[in-house]
Amino acid sequence: MRVLILGGTAEARALAAELAADPRIEVTSSLAGRVAAPRPPAGRLRVGGFGGPAGLADWLREQRTDALVDATHPFARTITANAAEAATAARVPLLVLRRPGWRPQPGDRRHPADSLEEAAALLPGLGRRIFLTTGRLEAAAFAHLADLWFLLRSVDPPEPPLPPHTLVLLARGPYTVAGERELLREHRIDVLVSKDSGGPATAAKLTAARELGLPVLLVRRPPLPPGVASVPDAAAAAAWVRGLRG
Ligand code: NAP
Repeated sequence: MRVLILGGTAEARALAAELAADPRIEVTSSLAGRVAAPRPPAGRLRVGGFGGPAGLADWLREQRTDALVDATHPFARTITANAAEAATAARVPLLVLRRPGWRPQPGDRRHPADSLEEAAALLPGLGRRIFLTTGRLEAAAFAHLADLWFLLRSVDPPEPPLPPHTLVLLARGPYTVAGERELLREHRIDVLVSKDSGGPATAAKLTAARELGLPVLLVRRPPLPPGVASVPDAAAAAAWVRGLRG
């Protein structure tokens, strides 16, 4: 059985490891190629875009793929839409593996935003010293905020334009609550900006912000394409794949 996992997340790697351990399953993971040195998943790996939904549908047909699991990041909305379209065109069963968003906790000071642009518009009303963790490609939405100071953390160097007063911190999770608390204190941060990515690897910043009483500007995740089945974790996705074998 041939399975394609659209990856780029910890859950995608966990699923690849679980499926690759089954000799009856040939698993290929696909990465966009955004991160310079990604952690390699178990099984086969291909890197780079497919050329839109038609290109992905062609790939699925050419490789005689039996199942497609979209385990991309909750904010990777283009590839998720492409996967839905391509799976329909190539008649390949599709499952979305999407980890849940972070649950609100007592003591949280959450401010939701529907987009990065809305977050940027709300930000001056919330603080002056910002911890920006939305990702290296998303800083442009905040570049016009010349009166605010930013600590921008990303895995690889961020794409310009950046806000004029920005300190870049290159780091890759998982992070600890103690480390995040120290970072917030050291840089006298008064507001945290994050996407609602969910998952344990980057949740410590929310705990640290809660402990310090800081507001968190949280960008809501985009909706899934209509009618697409989804599960919250790798174990459920592996069970779905095995169920297809009958
Ligand atoms: P996106 O905007 O949804 O996708 C843009 C294009 O990148 C897609 O049209 C596709 O190109 C290509 N692509 C995306 N994911 C791919 C994959 N797994 N394999 C092959 N091609 C892929 O995606 P994005 O938000 O830039 O995210 C890119 C990758 O980084 C994803 O795999 C995602 O899981 C990971 N990631 C994203 C975020 C985030 O916040 N967005 C955070 C952490 C990790 P073609 O149309 O040419 O096929």
